[in-house]
Parts: sequence; structure tokens; C-alpha cells
Amino acid sequence: MDVRAHVSVVFHLDKCIGCHTCSVACKNVWTDRPGAEYMWWNNVETKHGTGYPTRWEDQEKFRGGWQFQPGAKALDLRSQGRADALFKLFYNPSQPNLDDYYEPWTYKYEDLFNAKAGDDQPTAVPISLITGEPIDIKAGPNWDDDLSGTPLYAENDLNLDKLTAEERAQLFEVERLTMFYLPRICNHCANPSCVAACPSGAIYKRGEDGIVLINQEKCRGWRACVAACPYKKIYYNWKTGKSEKCILCFPRLETGQPPACFHSCVGRIRYLGVMLYDAERVPAAMQVADRALVESQRSTFLDPHDPLVVAAARKNGISEEFIAAAQKSPVWKYIMQWKLALPLHIEYRTMPMLFYVPPLLPVMGHSVNGTYGHTAGSFFTSLERSRLPVRYLASLFSAGNDQVINAVMKKLMAVRCYQRWLTVHDLPEDDVHAILREAQTTPEEVAEISAMTAIPTVYERYVLPPLQREEAIQSTCSPEACKGCTGFSLDPSFTPRA
Ligand code: SF4
Ligand code: SF4
Repeated sequence: MDVRAHVSVVFHLDKCIGCHTCSVACKNVWTDRPGAEYMWWNNVETKHGTGYPTRWEDQEKFRGGWQFQPGAKALDLRSQGRADALFKLFYNPSQPNLDDYYEPWTYKYEDLFNAKAGDDQPTAVPISLITGEPIDIKAGPNWDDDLSGTPLYAENDLNLDKLTAEERAQLFEVERLTMFYLPRICNHCANPSCVAACPSGAIYKRGEDGIVLINQEKCRGWRACVAACPYKKIYYNWKTGKSEKCILCFPRLETGQPPACFHSCVGRIRYLGVMLYDAERVPAAMQVADRALVESQRSTFLDPHDPLVVAAARKNGISEEFIAAAQKSPVWKYIMQWKLALPLHIEYRTMPMLFYVPPLLPVMGHSVNGTYGHTAGSFFTSLERSRLPVRYLASLFSAGNDQVINAVMKKLMAVRCYQRWLTVHDLPEDDVHAILREAQTTPEEVAEISAMTAIPTVYERYVLPPLQREEAIQSTCSPEACKGCTGFSLDPSFTPRA
């Protein structure tokens, strides 16, 4: 057992209100400079929809992630083979281009102040930041925002290919219109294809916390990583000639603060904590059939309460503070204890370490008379009649495995049903308990899930570990050894000495 610690995150999609505060917070902190205009390390997409860059999920075109051949010894990069890697240094046809993103622009604001007096209000025309000429804006970072009802954009969502013609047609009926938001950052994958593709060895995964970073000194701007990342979360800075990506705000993490997008999240959808995993199991875990991938990834995670795991973690140099953070991790609860959080497109086989609690709203929206109106026997049949077919969610979150997504949706439905029943008693008690049994949960677990979903404190949502390289500083961060520095701990019981 080779125990490693990983800072991992969960986004609860039912809580996202699509306000884009996270994207703006990130842009203000990291990408508000020339060459980075079109970079959205954090972006929020509307599903069903095409996302950003447009149709990034189309791996036939963009060829990101890993390819699995049953019987082969290892996974192959989709973007480049050993033979053509050299050739593709100079020309890679699967790179996204400006049309897949958008042409960055500003406005000619001075016209608002300097225009001659006239009968009309002056306007600020859009100007391309690349050519300096006026442009007709045709795309943007969230161009199909909130437009999932319009076939014009939503129909181009690749996940709809998994639906039958009838399901597709129903999806666009006015009475059934539905959508949800999908915030995306780099997944800080455990098996990152970007790292494997970089010819300069500039991308690396930090040993102590798993954060994937690009060394800007070593990057030569080959952009192999842009092609290899199936989530298209690496961007090329045309001013500096280097590639850039989300750094999970590691300087903030190292001073005990959550990333900027987490800190600013209005819907409080984001959770951050430590996962312990067995690095020895990672290579084999992604070499299984699509349908087995979610369970296979789960099998790499280790129970932080297991004494054998704790002993192996200590032997591997993982600090006591890290182990304690893993034991309190909200992320562990969502992924492993409750089995509610799933990776996005795990069939790309990069083993993403960002997980999503799928949205229940588009599924439960099909209620009767404002109540669920079901008996225990028929309660879960609403899953089959949901406005957003469960098969669509399976395409996003379980590599097409309906059973995995159904189990998650059932538990989410049971939590909502039970919590509602506690107040309004709209079902016989026996029926409610039958629903809990079918969803494989208990009143105690429902109470825990509900509390962590609806009313968690900031200290419950973000259980930050003291980062290993800062151990020296962290060791001063206790009531006994406090030196009164300006750092702070998220532990509410500890106030640094003034
Ligand atoms: S999501 Fe992040 S870590 Fe994963 S392949 Fe893309 S850039 Fe690399
Ligand atoms: S800030 Fe939070 S609620 Fe708002 S769009 Fe981003 S993830 Fe969603």
C-alpha cells in the first residue's frame, strides 16, 4: 500500500445558482492580464448545453484523455502516440482554436465621453483585443448561459446522443424544459494526461497534496497539454508563450484559506478536504470497462479511520495533521461514506479528483400537485419519468452506468422525502421508511447528509490540511507555540496571539 494524500473537492450541483461569482473571483485574482483574456480557469456552464470551449466533450475532435484497449499493458494518450508525438509538436490538428473559444474583446469606452453632441446616445462599440478592429461578437465564455431550452444551443450537447429520439424530442417540449449549472475547474486528476503529454516535463503533480501545476520557467509553449487535457482546462497565453491553468489557489491554501472561487461561492456548493488513496492501485484502476470505472476509482480510496491505513500513511511521511484532516473530510463523506458524489466524464480515464453531487431538481421537477404524491411502491418510478432523463446524467457522471446514477438519485430523493415528511407528514410512516430502505439509507444518515448539504458552517465545508511544505510554519500555529505571525488557522477554537 502506497498511501498518498490528495486535496480533493466536491461541488453540490443542486445548490449552484449560476451566478458566476466564482468565475469572476478567479478572473480578478489570476487571469486579469494581457494574453489571459479568454482564460476561464473557473467557468460555469449550463447543461444541457455546449460548454466552454464549445463542445469540449467532443473527444473525436479534440482527442483528450486516455485510450483504453482491453488486454493492453497500459493506457495510451489519445492526443499523441509515441511515433507521432514529435511531429505533433509543430502541428497538432486537435488543438482548439479561436473559434472554439472566442475572440477576446473590449469596448471603445472613450466614445462614451468624447462623442460629439447629437440626437442619439453615444455607444461603446466592441473592439477585438487581437486586431484592435471593431468586431461583431459571435461567442463568449458562457454564450449559451441559461439557454438550455433553445434547441439552437442545447441540441449540440454531445450527451444528448445517449438519448432515444423520443427522449430528445420530449426534452424540448415547453412543459418539460429544464436545465442545471455545471461549474468547472481543473480536476487535479490523479492520472493526468496533461502531465504525461508535456514534452518539457513542465507539468507536475505536487507530492504532498496532489495539486497539478505548470512550471512557468520550464514551459516552452508546445501546447501538447492543451490537446491532452480532455476537460480543456489548460489555456495558452499568447502574450507570454506559456500554458496556464487553475492552481487551486495553492498560495491561499498554504495560508489556511480556501481557493478564491470557494471563498466567494454564493450558493455554498463547494466542499474541500483530504482524501487518502493508494497510488499503487491507480494505474490498474483506470484499465477497466467504462461501466466499472466509478467503482474502480472508489477502490483506490482508503478509509482514513482504518488503523492499518493510518499506520501506512505515517510510514509514508504523511503528517498527523493531514491524517486528522482526512478523517474530518467532508469530501470523504460525500464520495465514499454516502456515495453521492461522482466524477465528471470518468471515461476520459484521467481519474478526476473533483466530484459532483448530481442535480436532483430537473429529476424531481415532475411532482404532482406540489407534493411527490407517491406511495412507497411507486416513489422511485418518477426517476423514469423525470424531465431530464437519468441516462443524460449517467453520460456525464458515471460513464453511462445507469445503476450508479440511479443509486445516487434514489438516495438524494429519499433525503428530500424524509426531511419533508418530518415537517408535513404527507406520507404514512411505514411508506417513508420503505423509501429509505430502498434507497439504502437510514434516518441517521439522512440527518447527516441534510445537515452537510443545507446548513454546514465554513469549517465543515472546508477542512484544510496544514500543507506539508509549511509544516514549520504550521507548527508555530498552536496556542502553545504561537509567535503572533499574520497567518491564521481555520480552526475556530484557535485565535493567534496579537
Ligand atoms: S483536468 Fe487538470 S489535471 Fe486533469 S488533465 Fe486537465 S489540466 Fe490536467
Ligand atoms: S459562485 Fe457558486 S453558486 Fe455561483 S455560479 Fe459559482 S459555483 Fe454556482
